[in-house]
Amino acid sequence: MEVVVGKLAGFCFGVNHAVVEANKLIDNEKNVYCLGEIVHNAQVIEKLEAKGMKTVESLDEVPDGSTVIFRAHGEAESVYKKAESKNLKVVDLTCGKVKAIHIKVSRNKVDSFIIIIGKKTHPEVIGIKGFAGENSFVIQSEDDILDAYMEYEKTNLGKVFVVSQTTFSSARFDDIREEIETNFCEAEVVVDKTICDATENRQLETRQLAKEIHKMVVIGGKNSSNTKELVNVAKEFTEDVYSVETVKDLENITINKDGKIAVMAGASTPKESIEDVKKYLENL
Ligand code: SF4
Repeated sequence: MEVVVGKLAGFCFGVNHAVVEANKLIDNEKNVYCLGEIVHNAQVIEKLEAKGMKTVESLDEVPDGSTVIFRAHGEAESVYKKAESKNLKVVDLTCGKVKAIHIKVSRNKVDSFIIIIGKKTHPEVIGIKGFAGENSFVIQSEDDILDAYMEYEKTNLGKVFVVSQTTFSSARFDDIREEIETNFCEAEVVVDKTICDATENRQLETRQLAKEIHKMVVIGGKNSSNTKELVNVAKEFTEDVYSVETVKDLENITINKDGKIAVMAGASTPKESIEDVKKYLENL
């Protein structure tokens, strides 16, 4: 079977940087903790944990004075303060693009109500909200706009500053933004579409491949929102979309072997997983 692997499939530079630096750190230091999963990919985490890294859910689990990694998603301002109070050595691997959003919302919160378009429970969004402060609101869908407006009305702010989770769907962002501009018509609304190029370009390539090939495997962790988004994008053009975490998941799926098949992968999928899937499909 002919397999076409997307050029932009797999690790984005932010995730790649975090994984490379975490590996270097564990090679040189013992008792390294990582706050939350370093990437939403079980295979990557297993490898790092086998080398000694410990994943924790809260800083309470990290002994005072230890080394802790902050992953590419970033953390809230309060988490940095807590780390300082515990005298932790923070290795901050927050992606530069996420850091830039922290800086933007911190500056704008002085005179603006901050809206973050993104998934409420996503760690990156929680981190951004932490920097945005109390006059802020997360909008996940059009249904949240009225609640956001009611929160905005409680403030004396005449400005609204809108940012996005870096991995949010570009098309969904545009729909929600339009609704915000209509509903906040008496406010001065400034929109900064902080969706990462790596995410947007990967979605564009996925769209293109699904349109041309009509059959696609999308590889990525079950909790990875950018991977889920790739599946949604591909499904706009074909129902023949298989979402898998590793090559093992393909063994239970019957794939139509006629013609070509495309392979895409989310930002937290390592090269090896893509290679395994490619080989498996080629041998079908
Ligand atoms: S998707 Fe973009 S913003 Fe997010 S970690 Fe990767 S490079 Fe950074």
